[in-house]
Amino acid sequence: MRYVPRCTKDAETGRMSGISPRIEGMEQIILDILAALRCGEKVDNDALVRLVHAQAKRSGGDKRAFAKRRLLPFYQRVKREEPERWASWRVTPELEEQLLRVLRMKPRRSASGVATITVITKPWPCGSDCRYCPNDVRMPKSYLHDEPACARAEQNCFDPYLQVSTRLTALSQMGHATDKIELIVLGGTWSDYPRGYQIWFITELFRALNDDAISGVAANPMLAEPGQDKGAVLASTEDVPEGVVRRRARYRDLGIPSDEETLAAFARDAQRAVDAGELRYNQAVTELYGSSNAWANAARYQHATLEELERQQRLNETARHRMVGLVIETRPDAISAEALTLIRRLGCTKVQMGIQSTDQRILDANERRISVARIAESFDLLRAFGFKIHAHAMVNLLGATPEADKRDYARLMTEPSFQPDEVKLYPCALIEGARLCRDFEAGRWRPYTEDELIDVLVADTLATPAFCRISRMIRDFSSDDIKAGNKKPNLRQLVEARLAQGERDGGPRVREIRFREVGTHAIDREDLRLKALSYATSNTQECFLQWVDSQNRISGFLRLSLPDRAYVEQHARELPVAPGEAMIREVHVYGMATAVGEEGRAAQHLGLGRALVERACELACSAGYSYLNVISAVGTREYYRHLGFVDHGLYLRKEL
Ligand code: SF4
Repeated sequence: MRYVPRCTKDAETGRMSGISPRIEGMEQIILDILAALRCGEKVDNDALVRLVHAQAKRSGGDKRAFAKRRLLPFYQRVKREEPERWASWRVTPELEEQLLRVLRMKPRRSASGVATITVITKPWPCGSDCRYCPNDVRMPKSYLHDEPACARAEQNCFDPYLQVSTRLTALSQMGHATDKIELIVLGGTWSDYPRGYQIWFITELFRALNDDAISGVAANPMLAEPGQDKGAVLASTEDVPEGVVRRRARYRDLGIPSDEETLAAFARDAQRAVDAGELRYNQAVTELYGSSNAWANAARYQHATLEELERQQRLNETARHRMVGLVIETRPDAISAEALTLIRRLGCTKVQMGIQSTDQRILDANERRISVARIAESFDLLRAFGFKIHAHAMVNLLGATPEADKRDYARLMTEPSFQPDEVKLYPCALIEGARLCRDFEAGRWRPYTEDELIDVLVADTLATPAFCRISRMIRDFSSDDIKAGNKKPNLRQLVEARLAQGERDGGPRVREIRFREVGTHAIDREDLRLKALSYATSNTQECFLQWVDSQNRISGFLRLSLPDRAYVEQHARELPVAPGEAMIREVHVYGMATAVGEEGRAAQHLGLGRALVERACELACSAGYSYLNVISAVGTREYYRHLGFVDHGLYLRKEL
């Protein structure tokens, strides 16, 4: 079927123009894909690349003009704005599902069941000053301005609403369902920020989701024409929600920069002083932002009340984009019952915290300024509040050896005082300006060789129990920023290749969750079994329920926590729970995130979640508990109400 152009509106950018060979070409590629799918042919990435190349050749154009990332937004725009033209393509719902599968970018992004958005808080001092920690004064402590989420934050003046809008726009244009969102808030230590700022930041995250703050294709710098100024695209107000336009104008009026040149000039002297060791990060950041009228004026409206937050939360319960997980990042010494009560009121469900090591000698050598006992206390408190615990663990810190690292990690995974639910496991990398540079130059620290590093990470992965998920193995540092240490972005693949080979050779099997996730595979309900794994922590008995298939792939899981009566009684004054109350700390069902109401063979639609919750009720009841709490995200409250839970303080609760 050869297409004859009929309209003069640029269907990718939405701008009026003459008949464009590029638009003609994109439509032809879509029609070619549809024709192949109708014939039952498989259109994989290679086939798509061939279609793109063939079209570029036919139209004598640049193949970048037909890049995969442009095709889906083009399709979506035609469907939305030119219904007659779209109707002429005769796309049935089944065909569309197949087409989206072909055009979707980075399918893994939503393969865990939810789409994830990472946002960054504004630069702020940290209560600690660890030797290895980067000192980029344009960022909150430990982040670098050229990490992807950080660059996005700077372009959006660290505004939470704008960051969510940018990401939501990109995700939907890449073809991901965005009805279930996990928001990850990163930036040093959450509880070090003023209470008003914490409440405002989270309120704005909810507001952006509730406002459906998605811009059109014309405003997406990722889809700029070859040679087009991305800054100009970002500054454009065409096809941009009103809330976004208003906020951008406000930051412009305040004089907060968002372009690279001005940002670099603003921070240059302070950064030079920090790198030269003349100033500590905390001093530099306090002076730099404290003396800036623009930042001081911005801070005046960066606060909100709990009433406004709760209003946005209620709206989100039934919004199009629901927050099904909210994660904040903090240090163990900032964990207190008071801090956790506020964090819970904000709607948070998971806490990320930097542990790095459970060896006091290593903590001291790296000037972490914390004791192992305080770390253990923070784990207890987080579990008692029902939070999912995401620990950061580092290898190759100052003073470590490969063998000591393996022992250290095994302790984190197996000792009842620790046992996180999720872990970011990554090697220490030397970043310009970190105080570790002096140890490197003096020969006190050296990066592990690639072999040593992989050997440690392989051992650590094998030591990770079935209830724990290794979410990452590297930081998002660019190789230009790394002075010494691993520069391979595919480190995890190298480790997993070694592990997979080990399994084929009859070696030990990997138990950690991410390695076993069903991902984008179809799920056969008949092949699933519900397995329970119990383990004791210092203040709870945990029961990890998981749906696994015959290949041990995981399709869903639930974390049931049965608190020790003695612990709860001892801390009765500070805890929001009473003796006799069990807690569901997490329910996660996998499968490609599909929009609410869409049919699919994903695990989310097979009733796996409900069965997990019912089993948890039975187990808690037979263990003698009278109530079962669930630490629900705001966007999943409706789901639990549907299952018979009722709102109760910081949780939803069911009488057993
Ligand atoms: S606590 Fe975290 S952010 Fe603060 S200095 Fe240490 S590593 Fe950096």
